[in-house]
Amino acid sequence: MTAAWLADVAERTAAAGLHRAPVARQPGATEINLASNDYLGLSTHPDVMAGAHAAIDTWGTGSTSSRLVVGTVQAHVDFENDFADFVGADAALMFSSGYLANVGAVTALAGRGDLIVSDTGAHASLIDGCRLSRARVVVVDRGDHHAVRRVLSERTEQRALVVTDSVYSIDGRLAPLRELYAATRATGATLLVDEAHAIGVRGPGGRGLVAECGLAGSPDLVVTAVCSKSLGAQGGVVAGSVLLRDHLIDHARTFIFDTGVNPAAVGAAHAALRVLIANPHLPDRLLAGARRIAAAVGADRPESAVVSLIVGDPAAAVAAAQECRDRGVLVGCFRPPSVPEGTSRLRLTMRADVDDATITTVAAVVRNALGMAGAA
Ligand code: PMP
Repeated sequence: MTAAWLADVAERTAAAGLHRAPVARQPGATEINLASNDYLGLSTHPDVMAGAHAAIDTWGTGSTSSRLVVGTVQAHVDFENDFADFVGADAALMFSSGYLANVGAVTALAGRGDLIVSDTGAHASLIDGCRLSRARVVVVDRGDHHAVRRVLSERTEQRALVVTDSVYSIDGRLAPLRELYAATRATGATLLVDEAHAIGVRGPGGRGLVAECGLAGSPDLVVTAVCSKSLGAQGGVVAGSVLLRDHLIDHARTFIFDTGVNPAAVGAAHAALRVLIANPHLPDRLLAGARRIAAAVGADRPESAVVSLIVGDPAAAVAAAQECRDRGVLVGCFRPPSVPEGTSRLRLTMRADVDDATITTVAAVVRNALGMAGAA
């Protein structure tokens, strides 16, 4: 790697309008933040913050080793048990992030000589799990369950795994979970569903789209989830049967070789889960708000917290996002390679703690940034 090569790549990236830079949030900032995944506003909820503090007081700041050495504390186990109960699974296993949960689960469930069927909406962590698995990977169009069934039926491999997001992260649309599960059942395959954007958002009391579809606890169904979105914390979880959990402990490399997720994150995630269980109306409030804001900015009716507004040109999307930021509203801006060419977009993520007046303000700012009629 030479400096000249780095400079060349940087120049081409910038010329394509694809250079990115993280912008640090500052303490006491007053922006309206609709770019985060803090769907229920729990990252700053007093009970959730207290959960993190209490876990630090009990366990310290680090888990001090990988989970299988001495890095498992009772807080991990308690959270895993309660999370499994919440999603209607027999067991769950916590990883340091949702990313690592997906990579670990996929690589532990499929290997050389197996088949994985993925789709064009799959999150990068599922894609990377597929790549690392050494299985044969077939990618079908997002939501095309007929294609999934066809590929599964025509396979020569004995074992097959289908991976999908339940709520697609880019535009918040829903995967056809019932059909996908039926396809896997009919062909002796396993279905892995990433509920990252569905926990706390869809299903009864926020139990996810798997639960909403009546599939909770089904055989040969693996659920992955994150603590970094509606739970306002950090960490990933894989839920399913006891046999699955034990298999992951023995074979998931991102579990075995990674330091256990820190106690504060576990304490926060667990407290957030309790807040969600005690406030089962929060997901409904979130969806209602998302629908109000989508109507106000002319976006399609959302099925989750994500409101997606296609701009097209990456530079125009960046400019619109910057204009919103300048006027105190943080929105996401997605460009290739995160989205297909020509579909750069603003992505607003609704939160349950945003009121009607704020929605009106946000809508005016976004409309103005996009040069829409009726802008403020
Ligand atoms: N799956 C999906 C669908 C996601 O959107 C994300 C995060 N953006 C992840 C997994 C990874 O989760 P984490 O950020 O907790 O690593």
